[in-house]
Amino acid sequence: MLKKIEINVMTLLRIAIQKSGRLSEKSLELISEAGISFNNSDRKLITPSSNFPLELLFLRDDDIPQYVADGVADIGIVGENVILEKKSHSNIVEKLGFAKCRLSLAIPKSIDYSGSSYFNNKRIATTYPHILEGFLKQNKINAEIHEISGSVEIAPGIGLADGIFDIVSSGSTLISNGLKEVEVVMKSEAVIIGDPKLSQEKQQILDKLLFRIRAVQKAKNSKYVVLNAPKENVDKIIQIIPGMKSPTVVPLADDGWVSVHSVLQENEFWQVIDRLKDCGAQGILVIPIEKMIV
Ligand code: ATP
Ligand code: MG
Repeated sequence: MLKKIEINVMTLLRIAIQKSGRLSEKSLELISEAGISFNNSDRKLITPSSNFPLELLFLRDDDIPQYVADGVADIGIVGENVILEKKSHSNIVEKLGFAKCRLSLAIPKSIDYSGSSYFNNKRIATTYPHILEGFLKQNKINAEIHEISGSVEIAPGIGLADGIFDIVSSGSTLISNGLKEVEVVMKSEAVIIGDPKLSQEKQQILDKLLFRIRAVQKAKNSKYVVLNAPKENVDKIIQIIPGMKSPTVVPLADDGWVSVHSVLQENEFWQVIDRLKDCGAQGILVIPIEKMIV
């Protein structure tokens, strides 16, 4: 009699990331920092991980919301601007803090700007017609939208439009094209979007992935700090750097001194260091943290 052969098809979570562009490198870095390895040398359309139940699908960023909505990919990494432009109904699962930018209206710098009504009866060039349409409707502005596929910033200079609606980060592209930003319509950053109806198995893989990503993100925002301080100021120092539970305080060979070990947030770093110095702290060492599980 033939023996029944059981084929164990392992469930894989499929993540769509941008094939090449501003999101690609950071998306791959995030996955790699979460300890997930890929043989990525030949950039096939779909690449499975060698040590985690995840496979990568490389796409143009514009297509990612639709692939996730259709269930072809389970999750994806994309800018919030693209989600809004594509009117996608996918869930935002996690904000990732990179590819930060804004979508703004800009006009030639020589023009006096008196408010958004300036755009009435004007032509605006953009690659984001839906977001712009929403803004114009909301503000009861009657403007003509010129959808173009790239190099939006040159449109006013060549007489194609009176203004533009485009991605801005530092603003240097606008300046070098003789334009000025006059309205910020939305702010955007890279996020993970997800199919709202994942199977239980896939949800478990996603939870594991998010746990790792959060540990890496948290560590990036934190620093390990070691310092020496006079014993009598320890209480004050503990209040400044309370740490994850409470700081480690170790006596030094010199009786009047202790060593304090704790964790502080990157964004409050310089302010905290100044306050520590005011409390007599010396020999302050600040060390990066690789992963942080709280
Ligand atoms: P694709 O070929 O995949 O369609 P693309 O040309 O549409 O790529 P990119 O220029 O690679 O897109 O930008 C991808 C995303 O990165 C944008 O949708 C936006 O969220 C973000 N982004 C774009 N420009 C900047 C910028 N200058 N600074 C920060 N983030 C940006
Ligand atoms: Mg695109």
